[in-house]
Parts: sequence; structure tokens; C-alpha cells
Amino acid sequence: MIFNIKPIFVFCAILCVYSCKSQTVTAPKKVEIVSDTAFVNLKDYSQDFVYDMKYATSDNFLKAKVYDCAECFLRLKTIKALISANADFIKMGYKIKIFDCYRPLDIQKRMWKIVPNPSYVADPSKGSIHNRGGAVDITLVDANGKALDMGTSFDFFGIEASHNYQNLSQEIKNNRELLKTTMIQNGFNPLDSEWWHYNLKTASNDKVSNTKWKCD
Ligand SMILES: [Zn+2]
Repeated sequence: MIFNIKPIFVFCAILCVYSCKSQTVTAPKKVEIVSDTAFVNLKDYSQDFVYDMKYATSDNFLKAKVYDCAECFLRLKTIKALISANADFIKMGYKIKIFDCYRPLDIQKRMWKIVPNPSYVADPSKGSIHNRGGAVDITLVDANGKALDMGTSFDFFGIEASHNYQNLSQEIKNNRELLKTTMIQNGFNPLDSEWWHYNLKTASNDKVSNTKWKCD
């Protein structure tokens, strides 16, 4: 009998402790361990971004909707750095608005066909940092959701989009400078010819990908 009672007692004790705990402690969320270089969706990590995913519409230089849905996939390390930059902008009353994130290689090839100029579109034979999940095209919006004046539209292929272009108002220069300095502080490098483009500093050795994300 003693051998039979003991396991029952132990079982009841465990059950009691477990059920007592469950009344006061919220069950932990299922935490998925993801590698730093895995592709993840920004929306699963933050709700603090504004989206204007240009290639999920025909409002882009391709004049074609090349993504089936507007999602921002990036490698996890890029997502972490972007969230950190956005936290800095939020403290200053702004938010990041996103135009483009990871870009499958097939889309890069289509872009190169239209604009075969390496100042504006990366040669798909080498692959862009967008194809590696380490680049973002962004701007800033204010507390009312209004985009700051950056002097040109996104994907403006001309000298006016360059960080080095000086014939701009002081306000535009300040806006570009704010975006640039904060992104650099958070692990990104700017691209001289495009004020909207930022590369994660550690992304150059990641592999080019042509994986496409699923749409619901
Ligand atoms: Zn870009």
C-alpha cells in the first residue's frame, strides 16, 4: 500500500502547485528561438511602423505590382536594428515609414532591366543588400503621419536624391540629416545616391535569396 500511496501523493502535490500557480501567473507565451539571420516579418516584432510598400502597388518606377502582398521581411538582426532606430525616432516625435525591405532576386532582375544603372539599381549578378535581407528603403513621418520633406520622392533617379546634393532648403537638409545620423547610430550605412536607402553594416556577407513570402 505504501508504494501505491506515495506516487498518488506526489502527483496530487504537483497538481496542487501547478494549479495554484496558474491562478496567479500568466502562462508564458510560446517563444520561438529564431537565428539572427532568419527571415522574419517586421509586423511580428513591432506595431510601431508605418507602411507604404511601393512594390505591392503599381505606384513605383516599374509601373507594376510585383509583390502579392505588402509585407516587410528582413533578417532578424536587421529587424532588431530597425526597431532600435525607430525607438529613437519615436522619442523625438517621429516614426519610420517603410517603402521596401527584403526583395527576392527575381524582382531585382526586373528592376535592372528597366534601370541598368548601378548608381540606382544593384546589378542582380552581384545581388543587392535588399536581396540579402539587410536593406530598407524608408522615410520619416511626424506625429500626424505626415511624411517629412526629403526633397524628392522615393525612387527618384537623379542627383537631387543624393546625400551630397546641396541645393536644398535647410529644412530638407535637416530632415535627411536626422534620418541619416540616427540610422548610422543604430548599425546602418547610408547610400550616397539615395536618401531613403540604408544597409545594415553586417549584412554584406549574408546570402542572396529568391525566397518569396506567403500571403494570407
Ligand atoms: Zn533600397
